[in-house]
Amino acid sequence: MKKLGFGLMRLPLLDNDDKSSIDIDQVIPMVDLFMERGFTYFDTAYGYHDGHSETTFREAVVKRYPREAFTVTDKFPIWEVKSADDLPRIFKEQLERCGVEYFDYYWLHAINKSYYEKIQQYDVFAFISRMKQEGRVRHMGFSFHDDPDLLEKVLTEHPETEFVQLQLNYIDWDSPRVHASKCHEICTQHGKPVIVMEPVKGGALAKVPEKVDELFRSINPEMSAASWAVRYTASLPNIYMVLSGMSNLEQVDDNTSFMQDFVPLNEQEKEAIDTAATIIKESKGIPCTACHYCTNGCPMDIAIPEYFALYNTVKQFGDGQRWMEPINKYQQLCETHSKASECLKCGQCESRCPQQLPIIDNLELVAQEFEK
Ligand code: SF4
Ligand code: SF4
Repeated sequence: MKKLGFGLMRLPLLDNDDKSSIDIDQVIPMVDLFMERGFTYFDTAYGYHDGHSETTFREAVVKRYPREAFTVTDKFPIWEVKSADDLPRIFKEQLERCGVEYFDYYWLHAINKSYYEKIQQYDVFAFISRMKQEGRVRHMGFSFHDDPDLLEKVLTEHPETEFVQLQLNYIDWDSPRVHASKCHEICTQHGKPVIVMEPVKGGALAKVPEKVDELFRSINPEMSAASWAVRYTASLPNIYMVLSGMSNLEQVDDNTSFMQDFVPLNEQEKEAIDTAATIIKESKGIPCTACHYCTNGCPMDIAIPEYFALYNTVKQFGDGQRWMEPINKYQQLCETHSKASECLKCGQCESRCPQQLPIIDNLELVAQEFEK
């Protein structure tokens, strides 16, 4: 199987303020190009696009291709569980939403310390093992957002795990918050192949600082910045699949072009990646992946990831220059959302952020940048 998976969490929208308004007319040609070029792996989850990622997958893939032509991963949302009855109810709902009889891969979604306690309380690993015995799941695993100690504990307590999905990219590889290299090492020690999520860091590594862009282009003028990030992770050992959350046809075209006949990075390219990582880390961006886990419970409806992206455009990718475009976009967003300065500092968002970002402090930076 080719090593590129289609992540169905950043699909094109008809209305940018409504995550459920997926533009299926754009998704279908994206899926067709992906399949035409020999790729078969799709990744969805119960919560993506407020549940509409799964139904879009059914409409764009399941109803249009034979079952043996594709594979699909879905993920179990432990945070939705209020009683033991919710396990079979949610699983059945997922099968129905996706329109399939079985999942090729089924993960526990976004394990961290508190979710793991709840997973243990409801014995969710045993439930998924039963679904596997009944032929409803082919392979089981989990996606992970916490520290290496917890990963070691989960893999030791649950050797039935077959795969682990990790956040890996060339910025987070040695990050003290994400612990990517250590987590990758632990999976390898336990003999668990790794599925990579966020190889382009939520799109941030597709739009790199000018100096990095020049460096990449001096080595290969044809290759996009995103291609460097995807190839970096695909070149690591013990990688089963690299996911990319693609949002338009151009991204599918670009990703599939270089992953069709994948060539690992050579020594010169690896050195360029090291240099790029140093340059990007020296700039003062906020390492948000735009996963939106923080926004659902925000009592002020603050557009946290959108504000951080605009801040980064100014700080990280504009060499400090104040551009009018991000300022105008910030003002537009403030017409439908609260301003960064209106944050109540309740902390709800910080407890949900898989990157463990100091969101409250970062919103103050945003306010200083755009509201002064
Ligand atoms: S701390 Fe601020 S941004 Fe975070 S949830 Fe509370 S009000 Fe929203
Ligand atoms: S601030 Fe954290 S939770 Fe919110 S979108 Fe960014 S990475 Fe995700």
